[in-house]
Amino acid sequence: MTKQPHPEEGYFSKLDSEKRHKMAMERRAKLAKEELEKLKELHYMRCGTCGWELETIIYRGIPIHKCFQCGSALLESDAIEKFCGKDTTVVESVIDLFRF
Ligand SMILES: [Zn+2]
Repeated sequence: MTKQPHPEEGYFSKLDSEKRHKMAMERRAKLAKEELEKLKELHYMRCGTCGWELETIIYRGIPIHKCFQCGSALLESDAIEKFCGKDTTVVESVIDLFRF
């Protein structure tokens, strides 16, 4: 039997997500433009788990950046909403975690 999440758990997860996003934007503001470009060049379309090149596949019209070495996948920011449409409850909780 799976444990039901406490109703406040999603609220605090969202607060944590917003806090982390704010910290990332503050850190980004402190980095030089050259350093940001260097990071993007180094990591663009690379797997965050193993570093392999990501390949884009289209599933149900939605691009998914897939690593064929370790199996990880990177979704664009609105992909979960596109996959789930108007589905509610758990899906909305997951979507809220990724909103800033
Ligand atoms: Zn990988």
